[in-house]
Amino acid sequence: VSLDSVDTPALLVDDSRLDRNIRLMAQLCQQHGRKLRPHIKTHKTLEIARRQRDSGAVGLTVAKLGEAEVYAAAGFDDLLVCYPIVGPLKLARLAALARRVTVSTVVDDAGAARELSAAMTAAGVRLDVLLKLDVGMHRVGVAAGEVEPLAAAVAALPGLRLRGVCIHEGSVYGEPDPARRRAVGRDQVQQLVATAERLRDRGLPIDVVSCGSTPSLADVIDIDGLTEVRPGNYVFYDAMQVALGVVEAERCALSVLTTVVSRGGADHAIVDAGAKTLSLDRGAHGLGLLADYGRIVGRDDVKLASLSEEHGWLKLSKEASLSVGERLRVLPNHACAVVNNVDKMTVVRDSEPVGEWDIAARGQVT
Ligand code: PLP
Repeated sequence: VSLDSVDTPALLVDDSRLDRNIRLMAQLCQQHGRKLRPHIKTHKTLEIARRQRDSGAVGLTVAKLGEAEVYAAAGFDDLLVCYPIVGPLKLARLAALARRVTVSTVVDDAGAARELSAAMTAAGVRLDVLLKLDVGMHRVGVAAGEVEPLAAAVAALPGLRLRGVCIHEGSVYGEPDPARRRAVGRDQVQQLVATAERLRDRGLPIDVVSCGSTPSLADVIDIDGLTEVRPGNYVFYDAMQVALGVVEAERCALSVLTTVVSRGGADHAIVDAGAKTLSLDRGAHGLGLLADYGRIVGRDDVKLASLSEEHGWLKLSKEASLSVGERLRVLPNHACAVVNNVDKMTVVRDSEPVGEWDIAARGQVT
């Protein structure tokens, strides 16, 4: 069986690269005595989560309740919903989930925490929560000056059990310079650890000190006081991680197989992977780090210069030759976004398809 049997566009996952990425991250965490709770946002499959669990992950991180429900139904019983849960519809779903599996979530607002507590009390459960801190990304999270009153308020709520503090140090994606990135990552994790100590000094029970972001993970994992890490992207890596210098392209496990469907002229061609498959992402948080829409594997003479929904526009150098029907592989800019666009990924070993995985938790937007 060859890849000719796989119709395009198709997501390919390189089995041995995937295994290596999972193994190396598990080893890094073990060496430093940190618990690993990977974020499934990157792969959204059950098979990869099982491999992560088999290699020592203590549980999983998700962003959406729908993702937590998919994983709970598949037997994953320790889930952190690392996203503020707001509104009665979601509170009811979270309470139902908390009756079935060990689930925890994050809070950054006293009013939302009170509603969370009331919903849990009504359902007869007590929910573990982490305080989500804003240490520089300015997305979600409580600001430094307001952490202590929020922590005291959460600790007093009957439906919640304050367990710790967490951050997502995602601003490191905006730092292409490795020394700068290391400094930003370390500063944010040090703020996290210092906050944990301050809260403990006030008698609050802070056992979990959790951070997570692939580009700076190796830079911060040795910081004393950190207990848990939640990297996501590391299972696949992608063109963004390569552009940041986090890994070489050879570590990337996910690619998109695509077919040339038209030769528009001497300097351009069209492939069947467009924005619907590859997404328009050119760098995390809208930073536009990347000039193109993916890298063509092994073809420096061809650039993926723009995308419309079903068409990828290739810009060819003068020497490039490319015919209709030829197949190319694209290293996507942002693996997590691509995975959410399709139903299945083809598992490849030694350039041969050896299986297919459902992207079981794709499209879970609530
Ligand atoms: N934790 C949270 C809350 C996140 O939002 C993310 C990514 O968006 C992660 C962890 C994992 O980050 P990365 O994919 O950079 O490893």
